[in-house]
Amino acid sequence: MDNLEHKQLTKEDYNRLPVYYCKHCGSLKIMTVPQGIAEDYCDDCGSTDIGKANIEIWLELQKTAFKPLYRERPVKQFNPFKNY
Ligand SMILES: [Zn+2]
Repeated sequence: MDNLEHKQLTKEDYNRLPVYYCKHCGSLKIMTVPQGIAEDYCDDCGSTDIGKANIEIWLELQKTAFKPLYRERPVKQFNPFKNY
């Protein structure tokens, strides 16, 4: 057997994979920029303060360090161009 490299990642493997997240808002939508041009940045808030952690740590951070993204919805803004 020589195809060990193709073995499926288990959930545990997946949980150990590092993720990059925005230290400012907690988003995982980090845009990578070729090195030397600019820093990687958060697609949600534009911050370049990017941290690295595995998903379990990130989930803990979501509970403690950041406002839960899914719980707080932005207040709907009045749109003057929409016909009510
Ligand atoms: Zn952000």
